[in-house]
Amino acid sequence: MEQPLLRVEGLKKWFSIEGEKLVGGKKQFVKAVDAIDLSINRGETLGLVGESGCGKSTAGRTLLRLIEATEGKVVLDGIDLYNLSARQLKKMRKDMQIVFQDPYASLNPRLKVRQIIEEPMTIHTNLTKKERLEKVKQIMSDVGLNVMYLDRYPHEFSGGQRQRIGIARALAVEPKLIIMDEPVSALDVSVQAQVLNLIQDLQKKYNLTYLFITHNLSVVKHISDQIAVMYLGKIVEYGDKKSFFDKPLHPYSQALISAIPETNRALRRERILLKGDIPSPINPPEGCRFHTRCPFAMDICKSQEPQLEQIEDGHYAACHLYTGGMNSNE
Ligand code: SF4
Repeated sequence: MEQPLLRVEGLKKWFSIEGEKLVGGKKQFVKAVDAIDLSINRGETLGLVGESGCGKSTAGRTLLRLIEATEGKVVLDGIDLYNLSARQLKKMRKDMQIVFQDPYASLNPRLKVRQIIEEPMTIHTNLTKKERLEKVKQIMSDVGLNVMYLDRYPHEFSGGQRQRIGIARALAVEPKLIIMDEPVSALDVSVQAQVLNLIQDLQKKYNLTYLFITHNLSVVKHISDQIAVMYLGKIVEYGDKKSFFDKPLHPYSQALISAIPETNRALRRERILLKGDIPSPINPPEGCRFHTRCPFAMDICKSQEPQLEQIEDGHYAACHLYTGGMNSNE
């Protein structure tokens, strides 16, 4: 069986809180990402979804080593990124690119489009200047940008066009993995679908592999093969798109799905309203982190943390409703 392109094991990113008093003799941490496992097959898209503050963007940056993990393993195409020296990592950067949410802030306003797209090729390839220019033109056409705009600056483009430039820049070095971090959230609704379709077309054309981070379930439904739901630094559900949307297992996923606007009356689900806001990741609730908001919380949920277990074929959830607390660490 083919190995997944990306494998993440026990990835943790805890931020220590500077200047905070020790509580009970222990240093305080924001547990932004707290021991997550993921894998993505070549040519597929994993949608990583959750409310803002759940740790999904930190997970994306940590697995690319844009920020260093506290613990864990990230294996990209057989290479453990956390075993690489700074020099080896720099070489590997070519294989893993990221597209950010805000296409304006992520593009250097002083560079022309041709320079923005060419820059990663200058760093990571031996292409000549002429070859780089040819490639810039080809990629611009791939992402739907007119090559007449080669010498324009980012501010001369619309939000959707700027995001196309960001995608072109990521594509320039033919990466194995692209992390899309909320790539359409800052765009007008009218252009979101165009950019999503472009992302899918490029995937088919170049057999790209995506980790697609978003808070928007309608978007993951459109774009993903697999879906992972994150809550307070943990993966609480994981499975293929069909089984996830046909039969969401975790109460948090059920609430998220029930909030998706549905024009077809027959498909409309009863809205599950969650109590309160997402708790602080500094002192996450004991037991199941979701118990303070869960409509099905039981006594066991307050004391025993459920582990991510396979409940149905290829469909995982971390919830005592399915395991009766038998999977606890205790
Ligand atoms: Fe709700 Fe308990 Fe399941 Fe957590 S473990 S999601 S609190 S039922």
